[in-house]
Amino acid sequence: MVNQTLIQYFHWYYQDEQKLWQKVSSEAARLGDLGINRVWLPPAYKSTEGANSVGYDCYDLFDLGEFDQKNSIPTKYGTKEEYLQAVNALHDQDIMVVADIVFNHKAGADELEKVPVRRVNPDNRNEYTSDVFEIEAWTKFTFPGRKGQYSEFIWDKSCFTGIDWAEDLQESAIFSIQNEYGDGWEDVPSDENGNYDYLMYNDIEFRNPAVRDELKRWGEWYYETIKMGGFRLDAVKHIPVRYLNEWLDHMRNKFDRDFFIVAENWILDDVEKLKTYIDQTQGRMQLFDSTLHHNFFLAAAQGHEYDMTQIFENTLVQTNPELTVTFVDNHDSQPLQSLEGYVDFWFRPLAYSLILLREQGVPCIFYADLYGAKYVDKDKEGNDADVELIGMDGLPGMIKVRKTASYGFQRDYFDHPNCIGWTREGEDDMENSGLAVVLSNSEEGSKNMEIGKGHAGKVFIDSMGNRQEEVTINEEGWAEFFCAAGSVSVWIVKTA
Ligand code: CA
Repeated sequence: MVNQTLIQYFHWYYQDEQKLWQKVSSEAARLGDLGINRVWLPPAYKSTEGANSVGYDCYDLFDLGEFDQKNSIPTKYGTKEEYLQAVNALHDQDIMVVADIVFNHKAGADELEKVPVRRVNPDNRNEYTSDVFEIEAWTKFTFPGRKGQYSEFIWDKSCFTGIDWAEDLQESAIFSIQNEYGDGWEDVPSDENGNYDYLMYNDIEFRNPAVRDELKRWGEWYYETIKMGGFRLDAVKHIPVRYLNEWLDHMRNKFDRDFFIVAENWILDDVEKLKTYIDQTQGRMQLFDSTLHHNFFLAAAQGHEYDMTQIFENTLVQTNPELTVTFVDNHDSQPLQSLEGYVDFWFRPLAYSLILLREQGVPCIFYADLYGAKYVDKDKEGNDADVELIGMDGLPGMIKVRKTASYGFQRDYFDHPNCIGWTREGEDDMENSGLAVVLSNSEEGSKNMEIGKGHAGKVFIDSMGNRQEEVTINEEGWAEFFCAAGSVSVWIVKTA
């Protein structure tokens, strides 16, 4: 079976002339040619800033750029019609659409309500700092621009567990909403700040059965609209596990389809917490390997002082490879974003080889590494900062090598702190498959590695173009492969 390769087809500051949905349509054939067969698209529904929202501040899940709401018909990425065209263009290339699902919160309510609340200590959400009192808060969603099309459901204060703004008091705080479904927070995976149910905006109350039903109805409507093959679940550590399991089971049973599911559970240095989540979801979801991203960040920052034999230590791809989506960076870790921790440029080719060319994990390519990105935003001190993310030169070639050559038995040579390598033996039914990778975070290096007797006498070249020599495999199926200083070489069969 051909390797699975995912791309995150946006970054936080995407604002090119061509709206994203149009760009997806025009690029679909190229993505298919590269070997990308799953595309994660950003949240497609109308959000509070209308045409300016990235999409995680979602307002109306049923408005895919169709209704005049939040001062715009299109979303940041275009109209519903353009979205459907983009989805069709991907499906024409046999590329799976992975839809971004934001279930933790809603934002931009239409009407105020009187809401009984208690203030909580932001650092310990289980500690209430007031008795119950009433505030006026934006908790009622009537979607006047949509006028009940697709769904007549009205969201109100009984649909939320918390909010962070009291309109009458003009006060910003974390308010726990007191409703008939429970007077405290829901049980969620993260116990940061005591209980991390509340992240932002209007936090959704899953103990309300009407909410649970409405989100299932929406899931059905969304699937029937775009026929996506997978979901990327946002911010799962703030959402009750039980409901996500229930929703996924509903979707799988309803449509008799084994969706590809990947969840964002942002944990940098404690792989045990990711494993606990896998237990709680009983393998229903794959997880992004934020622990591997963190190792990449450290390795890039520490240069030759980082021990490359440890690059997979304490990562999910090492402990649960079958449920891991690997990545280098994403829209949250890019510079000037909330979880900033961008892997330094020199290391990105090494990092990509470690996710694209090995057996373990489904790799997710970041948009900015394929196309580059330029933007301005405030830095932590509040000053304007210019950022340019340079696309990685060798990335398209490396993605293609994943598609054509990265198959078969894997042999690892993680035996030197600065220079590591591995080989893939290839498969008989994939012509010219098999490869050897050597990378160094210090001086140039080489490795004597076995690639298999089936390759005896074949000539290999570095597809990255970093080394010019040719390498011939000996009768025992071994050869010495090289890499230049601070770089990676990807050796593949030389073809005529
Ligand atoms: Ca929540």
